[in-house]
Amino acid sequence: MSMKQYALAGLFTLMAAPAMAAECSVVVESTDQMQFNTKEIVVSKACPAVDVELKHVGKMPKAAMGHNIVVAKTADVAGVIADGMAAGADKNYVKADDARVIAHSDLIGGGESTKFKIDTAKLEKEGAYEFFCSFPGHAAIMKGVVKVTD
Ligand code: ZN
Repeated sequence: MSMKQYALAGLFTLMAAPAMAAECSVVVESTDQMQFNTKEIVVSKACPAVDVELKHVGKMPKAAMGHNIVVAKTADVAGVIADGMAAGADKNYVKADDARVIAHSDLIGGGESTKFKIDTAKLEKEGAYEFFCSFPGHAAIMKGVVKVTD
């Protein structure tokens, strides 16, 4: 390579850096103490989709301490929770084809993990979004903000 090519290669590396830095995957842990390990999930619009892995690091079974992640507009959260509770455990406590649900995972128990995608095209930069566990009673504690960035 010539010096000019080296310089160009270096420039491309620098240019690629911001995109590489965008977090297109996130791991969230949940516990037997009914907690997520974070109050915020950052979703970059630079990613077509963000892969979210939910881990249940506890030991309790799904029926007693099941966790999932549901993403919805803040204004829709209460309705999504109410309808999810009515849908029941077999439906992961998420109403089927609920248009208010932007993304959600399966319901899991202790020792399990699951993955799902958040389609960033469904999120507006100015929008207010939250993530929460829709297992009955959990969302009061198990919730956080979904922050949308460039
Ligand atoms: Zn839960």
